[in-house]
Amino acid sequence: MSNYFATLRVTLLSGVTAINIMKKTLRLILGDQLNYQHSWFEKKEKNVIYLLMELRQETDYVAHHIQKVVAFFEAMEAFSKHLKQKKHQVIYWKLDKKENRKSIVENLNFLIEKNKIEHFEYQLPDEYRLDEQLKEFCQNLEINSNVVDSEHFMSTRFELRDFFEGKKTYLMESFYRSMRRKYDLMMEGDKPLTGKWNYDKENRKKLPKDHVPIEPFVFEKDVSKTHQRILDAEVKTIGNIIPTNFIWPSNREESLQLLDFFLKKCLPLFGTYQDAMTPHYWSLYHSRISFSMNVKMLSPLEVVKAAIAHWEKNQAEISIAQIEGFVRQIIGWREYMRGVYWAKMPDFANMNYLNHDKKLPDYFWTGKTKMHCVRHSVQQSLDYAYAHHIQRLMVTGNFALLAGISPDELDEWYLGIYIDAIEWVEITNTRGMSQFADGGIVGTKPYVSSANYVDKMSHYCKTCFYNKKEKTGERACPFNSFYWHFYDRHRDKLEKNSRIGMAYRLWNKMDKDKRDGILEQANKYLKNLEDL
Ligand code: FAD
Repeated sequence: MSNYFATLRVTLLSGVTAINIMKKTLRLILGDQLNYQHSWFEKKEKNVIYLLMELRQETDYVAHHIQKVVAFFEAMEAFSKHLKQKKHQVIYWKLDKKENRKSIVENLNFLIEKNKIEHFEYQLPDEYRLDEQLKEFCQNLEINSNVVDSEHFMSTRFELRDFFEGKKTYLMESFYRSMRRKYDLMMEGDKPLTGKWNYDKENRKKLPKDHVPIEPFVFEKDVSKTHQRILDAEVKTIGNIIPTNFIWPSNREESLQLLDFFLKKCLPLFGTYQDAMTPHYWSLYHSRISFSMNVKMLSPLEVVKAAIAHWEKNQAEISIAQIEGFVRQIIGWREYMRGVYWAKMPDFANMNYLNHDKKLPDYFWTGKTKMHCVRHSVQQSLDYAYAHHIQRLMVTGNFALLAGISPDELDEWYLGIYIDAIEWVEITNTRGMSQFADGGIVGTKPYVSSANYVDKMSHYCKTCFYNKKEKTGERACPFNSFYWHFYDRHRDKLEKNSRIGMAYRLWNKMDKDKRDGILEQANKYLKNLEDL
């Protein structure tokens, strides 16, 4: 009986949509909604106009990396060209179009009136800010409106919230397992293939000294026109670009090429060197498909299915640890972060559990610091708008957390600098995973380390100005004294955490003079943060 009503409801709803489509309809496509496979585009509708806009509202809410702004505009324009080729009606407003106002709402009001639009539709935005803005816009609209799914993610907005209902900590691993089961990925019935869910322990190796990783596959495109348009509009940006040699994919075809390169050349060592860092290579065995996925040129399900199919055919070269690690990043971490975002916004954006309030040092914008790991991770980010996960988490993030930088400042930095930075995935990684500003929703303990971890996983420390082994003295690595200062100053909030007990036991056992010396060193460095 309930099935009967469900079918009836779907029929009625599609009837409503069909009636509306007969009206002159404007369909908004946001810059991160470039889903070539969306059901909107299956049929050519005579009365439907698609709208894409380059917006000052979006270029200006934070200072973005120049490569990020270019990448978005290039991908949006390519998408609009694709729709036009498929004979859809498209309006594409460039930044320099005279009528293009600053905000999305002003433009929509203008276009709805000008084109005598009778019905407005949009896809569920991934950002809370835009979701609120468009909801409010539709409430005030005199014509009918409708919102549809973006048909990208593998879980619904509130699936994770419901999954963890009543829990304080959201354990990623349990959500990941539920996604594996839901999509029957690498499963044997209800059990994981080979009986093991997680191969993390087999991964995470340091890059051997003489190991030369695969040369990264990059596009070499001329994006001078788009770049010039952004310069002419005086958009405030950060970072570097070579506009005649642009490396990022701009359409689905290029995104698929990048994925193909990753599967054939990088997947065999992806997991093994996933956490490795080196000043000599910038992309190692990482996929660099986060931009393509975050703007929806690739779907997460097609990516993991392609990866699993490739692994199945090449099991002699690709171990299960590699493929499982990759699948976990996408159907685990990525879906999980999105779920946390919708479960906890808007409060998440203001969380600051450790009350950190220091200003981000200038070298986060220039790379000019004597700390080799920070210098290289920042410089690479300025040059490529990219750093891999461990550079973000265990170098820049770790340093900022130890030094007590304000999460607001950091959010702005991470949101601006990376090619893939969109709030739903940036803020959950930054405030949650990296800064423990959520008090332990995402991670059960703060991700902090002394020089020891950085040295274990990288080639940075050997050639650093600072000495990785020293905690005090002129050349002592700042991470070392900061590490103990962090635990000492947050004793009231962290000591009872069972996962941190060991650190406090070590600290308590240390000679008082030694502890005082370390704290004094940290305080000296903290006072002169800009000079490190
Ligand atoms: P690979 O290493 O090849 O991994 C494959 C894919 O897994 C990625 O493309 C990504 O989609 C997914 N993935 C892996 N880890 C995560 C994660 N923790 N959260 C979500 N997805 C993940 N990722 C973004 O997409 N946008 C951001 O703005 C962003 N900000 C971050 C900020 C901080 C402080 C940290 C610690 C991490 C952040 N990440 C962010 C997660 C991660 O660093 C990037 O997804 C990854 O580095 C992208 O490079 P890649 O495509 O080569 O990834």
